[in-house]
Parts: sequence; C-alpha cells; structure tokens
Amino acid sequence: MKVNTVESLSGSTEEKGMNTFDIMAKYGHEQIVQCYDEATGLKAIIGIHSTVLGPAMGGTRMWNYASDEEGILDVLRLSRGMTYKSAISGLNIGGGKAVLIGDPKKLKSETYLRRFGKFIESLNGKYVTAGDVNISTRDLEYIRMETSHVTGLPEALGGGGSSSLITAFGVYMGIKAAAKQAFGTDSLEGRKVMLQGVGAVGMRLLQYLVEEKSDVFVSDIEEDRLQYASREYGAHVVSPEQIFDIESDIYAPCALGATLNDYSIPKLKCTAIAGGANNQLEDEEKHGQMLMDKGIIYAPDFLVNAGGIMAVAAEYMGEFNKEYLYQKAEGIYDKCLEVLKKAKVQQQNAQLMAIEVAEARISAIGQLHRSL
Ligand code: NAD
Repeated sequence: MKVNTVESLSGSTEEKGMNTFDIMAKYGHEQIVQCYDEATGLKAIIGIHSTVLGPAMGGTRMWNYASDEEGILDVLRLSRGMTYKSAISGLNIGGGKAVLIGDPKKLKSETYLRRFGKFIESLNGKYVTAGDVNISTRDLEYIRMETSHVTGLPEALGGGGSSSLITAFGVYMGIKAAAKQAFGTDSLEGRKVMLQGVGAVGMRLLQYLVEEKSDVFVSDIEEDRLQYASREYGAHVVSPEQIFDIESDIYAPCALGATLNDYSIPKLKCTAIAGGANNQLEDEEKHGQMLMDKGIIYAPDFLVNAGGIMAVAAEYMGEFNKEYLYQKAEGIYDKCLEVLKKAKVQQQNAQLMAIEVAEARISAIGQLHRSL
C-alpha cells in the first residue's frame, strides 16, 4: 500500500501489508480511536502512541486518503515519531497524532471541526492537538470552542504563533552539527547546501544559511517561492527533477517525507543530510543503512526538527517564552552531535541510535513513575 501524503511516510513494504494490531504491537502503540459523525461526514482517527512521559501531543492532519487503511497507517507512524521527538527533546510530553479522512475543500466547516473538538474533549486530555497539513490556526479556533486540549494557537488568542520559525532555527543547529561531524568544523561559510522546499521552515532556514555565507541551491514546486528565494537571498534555483543530480556538501530536505529511498540514495552526491521534513527515510532500517554504506552522515529528522514541538508544548504548559525556546532549540546542536558521534563509534544507523536514546529516556521515566 503506497501512502500518498504530503510527507509520504517511511515504513517498510512489509509493514504496509500488516494489519493495525500487528503494527500497534510492533511499535508499542497504546490506543487508536476512530471517530465518526454522519451529519458532518467526519471520519477521524486519533493515534495515541505513548503517554508515558505526558499527554500524547501531535497535530491533526486532513488528507484525502485513498483508503481508511492509509489514514490508519499514517496516524500510526506519525504518532510514533511524535513520541520520539518529544522524548529526545527532554519534554514531558507523549506522542500522538490525528488524521481527518476526506477532502478539506468539501468537508471542512465549523460544525465538522467542532464535532472533532468534542471527540478530543472526550479523551480528557490524553490527546492534545495542534495544526498540521490542511489544518490552519483558524480551524484550531473552531476545535478550541469544544476542547481546551489544543495548542499552536495564534498570538492573538494567547498562543505562541507560528512554530516554524523555531523549527527552522533548530534545523539550522542540526545542519551545523552534521557539518561538524562531516567536516570537523561547523562553519557553513562557503558550504554548498541543497535545500529542498522553501516553505515556512525552508525559507527561514535559507536566511540563516545565507547569513552564514553558504552557497544555497533551492528547489520547490511553487514558482513564486523560488523567485523570492532567488531575488531576496541570491539562492540558485534547481528544478525538483534535478535535485539529486546536484553535488553538494549538505542536502536539507524541508518539503516531503520519504525522499531518502531506493531511487534517490544511489544518486545522492552529498556528504551530510539534515533537514526539517518528517519521516525522511522511507524505511528507517534499510535506507539508514544505505546512507551509512555510502558514508553519508544522516542527522535524525525527529531530533533536528523538534523546535516546533518544543514551542507548542511550552504553549500548552503555559510556559511559552521565546528567548528560552531559542536556547532550548540551540541544544539540538549538542544532542545531534552526540548521537552522530555515538552512531559512528558503534557503527550504527543514526536514526536507530536516536530512537534508542529516546526509548531509554521513556523507559527510565516510566520506571521512575512506577516507583513513586
Ligand atoms: P510548508 O508547506 O510551508 O513548506 C513545504 C514546501 O515544500 C512548500 O513550499 C512546497 O511547495 C514545497 N514542496 C512540496 N513538494 C515539493 C517537491 N516535490 N519538491 C520541492 N519542494 C516541494 O511546510 P513547512 O511548515 O515549511 O514544513 C516543511 C517540512 O517540515 C514538512 O515536512 C513538515 O512536516 C516538517 N516540519 C515542520 C514543522 C513546523 O514547525 N512547521 C515542524 C516539524 C516538521
């Protein structure tokens, strides 16, 4: 089954043929909640991967999945990623995600979103939502009318505003850590960076890179964004088809998931990879290993792009402070370098190494809670 999402997910082919309980068992999911409302056409799936560290937090994505099974698979994988992202970032937050199945243009309405909000409320805070693909802050306002378990709200409503700025800063830190590991220096001056996707995260990242005098090549499917990147920041424009033919020091995926796969890895001509996209490896084990075999340094995606969850978690806890959050996101540099060094010493796939670090914290805190 091929999952066709904006971030088309990682996962082995074998996994795509497995049933829901088998995948839940394989990855240790706690709960999947299916919500249905005939009047509004709402079909929602809330995936709760882990609540060991705290409430399962993760955005809601709306997508016209080809089948309900695709939606379930999406929510299972994304919720697991959220658990690791929060755990490795030292947050007292668990991992969850929700998907709304259907065409946003046809289905989304105030009643549809408020009905979804009621379902979230019925979980009594076990799941906390935020925005994601096709769910805007305006949509969150409707959801919030029925539940307080929402974060990532606009500043006007007491929220922290767009988390993409902090995400971009964290990605910049991740790129510097990857550079340090690959080249022995974290200076990006003169480094050739292939930046895929100049959206909210990518465009801000481009600014950081240009400020450090990197030589940046950008690719996007939106012509106006490319023109802006070229005009404002002097970036070189590359077509999406050419991206893997370009020789670079660093490849920064900031658009889609699963761009590291059987097709792209043999073509890659870079020394290191670090970017903001979720689920960059189509198959964590296989493609992580292929990158290792090619000698390419891979900075684990969920570690590098954790700035956003740091921001929305702080907002939910009532601890939002921009200055403190940027300091916290700066810590991505050290954490990333630590994982990359450990992976090198142990000749281990860095993504799996990062998962090991996240799982160790979950296990230790879980034990701590049980002993109280
Ligand atoms: P966005 O939608 O603002 O930007 C994505 C960009 O990628 C767009 O400009 C889009 O046109 C471009 N794109 C789509 N398909 C492409 C292709 N085939 N080739 C090149 N470009 C393509 O999203 P964003 O908020 O910037 O997020 C970027 C990535 O980072 C996503 O994968 C997202 O899930 C992930 N992420 C974002 C945050 C956040 O705080 N925004 C946090 C964690 C992870």
